Amino acid sequence: MKHTTIAIIGAGFVGSTTAYALMLRNFVSELILVDIDENHCEGEVRDLSDALPFTSTATIKHCSFADAGRADIIIITAGARQKPGQSRLDLVQINHRIIKEIFCKLRPINHDAVVIMVTNPVDILTRIAQECSQLPHNQVIGAGTELEAQRLRRFISERLNASMSSINAFVLGEHGDNQFVAWSTATVDGSPLTECGLTAQDRDDLEQKTKQEVYEIIALKGSTYFGVAACLSDLCQSIIFNQQRVIPVSCYSPTYKVYVNLPAIIGENGICKIIDLPLNADEEQKLKEAVHVLNNIYQTTSR
Ligand code: NAD
Repeated sequence: MKHTTIAIIGAGFVGSTTAYALMLRNFVSELILVDIDENHCEGEVRDLSDALPFTSTATIKHCSFADAGRADIIIITAGARQKPGQSRLDLVQINHRIIKEIFCKLRPINHDAVVIMVTNPVDILTRIAQECSQLPHNQVIGAGTELEAQRLRRFISERLNASMSSINAFVLGEHGDNQFVAWSTATVDGSPLTECGLTAQDRDDLEQKTKQEVYEIIALKGSTYFGVAACLSDLCQSIIFNQQRVIPVSCYSPTYKVYVNLPAIIGENGICKIIDLPLNADEEQKLKEAVHVLNNIYQTTSR
């Protein structure tokens, strides 16, 4: 086990729920929380500390940005979240500034750290995090479409009355409105999903439902955090135990020279390898469109 200290920057809904999810998984020895709102952060640390006797986590502390920079895994959840009706891309100006500020305060960053960006729009901000941290591309990951892929698997399992574990399906492209399902590579019980009784209309409905879920949850309760916290603890597990599991994440594509969501093998150094899925022509086109949108927004933001 290489990594044992995890720092979470941003102790809001996503940050504190992630800390709790990590504690309950019993594989982190030390958790560090940092937030610009020091009182709130202290409150979360003390509330979470009440759960320490029931976990294998030894300590949870409210620390400085510099302490967080020395952690083995640094998870960034700080920044503004979507308001009802807002897209993730609407947050780019405000969160871009916040992320740049945070990376200045984290310096010097542990050279071996794996950074997991969560703040939206996650694909653009992961690219900015990699530039600010100057860590190699493989050590800077965005928690992107794993969440949508898990939602999709759940919706397909409900529709086909099949176990979620028998379904393999990826959501790729942008962690946002320019996402798409790689239906041509999806399987149920090892058979192509396109041959399992779902019509093109059914697939379209499932894809739209997956894309809309975030908007519907935000309209109902204002934010989403349980699912992403579970995804983040899953990612950390694959890093800490060098499990080399395939997880869709926002990663740097050498082909497109941009951070975009693709399936990748996740191990102790972050991304070990990006999986080259045999997409069909329509899916390739959708991937190129997502890359185009992300590149345009990045160019406008970084001017
Ligand atoms: P929140 O408002 O509850 O928490 C954000 C926290 O960031 C607050 O505690 C705030 O004080 C802190 N903060 C703001 N500026 C800071 C700074 N400069 N330094 C340190 N801390 C700072 O929001 P949330 O619901 O926890 O969402 C956080 C982010 O995560 C949002 O951008 C949201 O869109 C994103 N998110 C991403 C995913 C994903 O799958 N990638 C899923 C859900 C939410």
